[in-house]
Amino acid sequence: MSASIELKEIHWLIDMIQNIDVGLVIIDLDMNVKVWNGFMENHSGILTKHIVDKKLTDTFEHIPKRWLQQKIDTVSLLKNKAFTTWEQRPYLFKFKSYRPITSNATFMYQNVTFLPLSDIVGKVTQICMIIYDVTDVALNRLALHEAHKKLEHDSHTDSLTQLHNHGFWKECCQQEYKRYIRTQQNVSLLMIDIDHFKNINDTYGHPFGDKVLQDVAQAIQQQMRSIDIAGRYGGEEFSVLLIDSDLEQAKVVAKRISDVIKALSFKDKEIELTISIGIASLNKKIESYQQWINIADKGLYIAKNAGRDQIGILKEMPTLENDKV
Ligand code: GH3
Ligand code: MG
Ligand code: MG
Repeated sequence: MSASIELKEIHWLIDMIQNIDVGLVIIDLDMNVKVWNGFMENHSGILTKHIVDKKLTDTFEHIPKRWLQQKIDTVSLLKNKAFTTWEQRPYLFKFKSYRPITSNATFMYQNVTFLPLSDIVGKVTQICMIIYDVTDVALNRLALHEAHKKLEHDSHTDSLTQLHNHGFWKECCQQEYKRYIRTQQNVSLLMIDIDHFKNINDTYGHPFGDKVLQDVAQAIQQQMRSIDIAGRYGGEEFSVLLIDSDLEQAKVVAKRISDVIKALSFKDKEIELTISIGIASLNKKIESYQQWINIADKGLYIAKNAGRDQIGILKEMPTLENDKV
């Protein structure tokens, strides 16, 4: 191969390195920059002549020195490639993202490959870093992740009150039942039903009824601890699992919830809202979580039949076979 052909080849190689749409940076083992291609110039705004022979981490102070040194050491010692992905480290060089304004990425997500470069005698003297712009992939993945999270939240949540929905609350109830069987730690269940709620809808309309349901849900939540679990059981019925609470403690919480709901005010409307509550504290005789809910329900109907605005507790365990379901 003649010298001029060789030169030509080098010329297009350099041209390619300069214009390729990935970042190419070559550093020596002391992190001094040896090659800095067009991609790096364009995204950093730093020209090759201003960075060559300078220590990379002096110009880019956000690159963790120890971390980079470790990469260099392993790559040169093992003479093997190494990688870092945007999931491990969103970027190596903090470059602006040039995505459409609708995108919420303020920086370019990057994957980076580290290649060992050997001299004629086979000793690794330099490291080549290839920087890939993976902002599109990262944003899609993050958006998907967010969508999954939202979907999971929505599938568990009652949209009107933001409490757990019927299905998810029941799952929690089953979990707490199982926990009790294992640990025998006190746990109580409140079944709450708004009294004469139909009248509110009939008098003021359903949208106002919805607002009342939201306020009641909020009041219930404010009276319980963060470990307790509240759900909208259905319509104008709410259910609460009071963790680590025996019957006496549950009565205190139930009374507090009743008082707070009675004190709710609704602008210019003369409404005194009351609720009836059934309480069932879990004990060894209760054979399933469904039976536990059933006993709380019976307590609720005791309260309703006794005139509403009160707490009802089933004293005797139901003995009928269908009460076990
Ligand atoms: P009681 O004291 O016996 O519980 O009487 P009540 O009127 O509260 O009970 P009833 O079961 O007769 O009526 C419940 C009402 O709750 C009827 C239904 O339209 C209303 N309701 C159920 N879900 C919603 C909702 O999401 N929004 C509104 N606004 N009303 C609802
Ligand atoms: Mg009801
Ligand atoms: Mg009701």
